[in-house]
Amino acid sequence: MSKKILIVGGGIIGICSAYYLSKNGHDVTIIDKYGMNSGASYVNAGYLSPGHIIPLASPGVIQQGLKWMFDSSSPFYVEPRLNYDFIKWLFAFNKSCSSINVSNSIVPIINISLLSQDLLKDIKQENNLKFHYDQKGLMMLCKSEKSLEKENKVVDLAVQNGLNAKMLNRQEIKEIEPNIEIDSIGAAYFYCDHHTTPGEMINDLKEYIKKKGVKCITNTEITEYKLINNKIESISVLNKELKFDEYILSAGTWTSKICKKLGTNLLLQPGKGYSINKSSDNLLTCPAILVEPKCAITPMNGFTRFSGTMEISSMNNKIRKNRVNAICDAVESFYPTISISEKDRNNAGFGFRPISPDGIPYIGRSENLENVIIATGHAMMGWSMSTGTGKIVSEIVDDKKTSINIDRFNPNRKF
Ligand SMILES: Cc1cc2nc3c(=O)[nH]c(=O)nc-3n(C[C@H](O)[C@H](O)[C@H](O)COP(=O)(O)OP(=O)(O)OC[C@H]3O[C@@H](n4cnc5c(N)ncnc54)[C@H](O)[C@@H]3O)c2cc1C
Repeated sequence: MSKKILIVGGGIIGICSAYYLSKNGHDVTIIDKYGMNSGASYVNAGYLSPGHIIPLASPGVIQQGLKWMFDSSSPFYVEPRLNYDFIKWLFAFNKSCSSINVSNSIVPIINISLLSQDLLKDIKQENNLKFHYDQKGLMMLCKSEKSLEKENKVVDLAVQNGLNAKMLNRQEIKEIEPNIEIDSIGAAYFYCDHHTTPGEMINDLKEYIKKKGVKCITNTEITEYKLINNKIESISVLNKELKFDEYILSAGTWTSKICKKLGTNLLLQPGKGYSINKSSDNLLTCPAILVEPKCAITPMNGFTRFSGTMEISSMNNKIRKNRVNAICDAVESFYPTISISEKDRNNAGFGFRPISPDGIPYIGRSENLENVIIATGHAMMGWSMSTGTGKIVSEIVDDKKTSINIDRFNPNRKF
């Protein structure tokens, strides 16, 4: 049965949900407060990485965060604030930074990431979409023995869970990336990871869904949600009252504010990250994460992108130049022949990752409101998990068995 569906938030999660819902014959509208052309879904590193098996909330993260709290150029920063939602989130995050959280998360992370890779390849092929998609793997480059040891453990875990990964020595790094000097003593290499150029991919998907009849209302906010009998009865937009059968909340880090209006508490904090683009000379071909400074390097279509920092702070549009410089300086230290100009540094972009306390997405029906589905909280992995999330959302709407087990993503889980 065709339903009328409203998707609130048109980032990659909203767009992928729209893709599958419209494919299944539903009448889909996306509403976005901004232009559907900026933020995390545009500035990200483009990795589709099942190899990222460790969630943000893992042992040692709090201690590292405390150490870095007073270093304004550190890669992970938690701004201390007297804000009730933040303090609640911080307690839950602290509780989740455990080995149990890690071991409970590995399989669900891999399942949704692999599902998403497969689905994205199908979407590209079936619809003849031209966006850049590459399968060169991902190197985790280390400068210290301590980091190498840590990466080795992750590789072992990844292999035990069926992923294709191994450790590389200096010579093997050189073989993968022969045309550019790299200052690293070794790396973990995840063959299973793929990468894309985000702007191309999201624009292709956006165009495609519009052609298929999905309506996109941009720069518009819902002013009122009318609730009757545990359901959203209607919404008000631009002085009009509109009714839908189902509401998908996929407004990234802003979803918690929407949930609050609906009387639901969704623990979510913004994790700001930056990215800098540099036109490409094609010397660098393999994506890499610089392990100690936690920066990502992605050879995209026509340019190379450097990204990083996880700044959990109040939501603002400030670009902290010292953090942008820290990313660029780290890149220049690992790749001594790369130089990032002041102009490129000044053009840095930013986005907010939606961070749940355990670093795992929320995907599922709200327990308070029958016709509301939540799809957010993907933190550093929203690009990797986007198509899988969209497919699952459509399966929930259609009351079908989901492609993978989604218990771990329950949006009503307690912390
Ligand atoms: C620097 C950086 C690098 C990253 N690299 C990677 C990577 O390599 N791989 C990976 O998997 N992930 C990566 N991520 C994470 C990934 O980008 C995010 O998890 C993902 O983009 C989140 O998508 P989203 O659709 O949930 O949210 P968003 O992209 O934030 O979209 C939310 C949308 O909701 C809209 N909105 C806000 N408020 C409202 C409202 N009230 N009503 C309606 N609409 C509203 C916004 O305008 C926006 O369009 C990275 C993130 C950053 C910042």
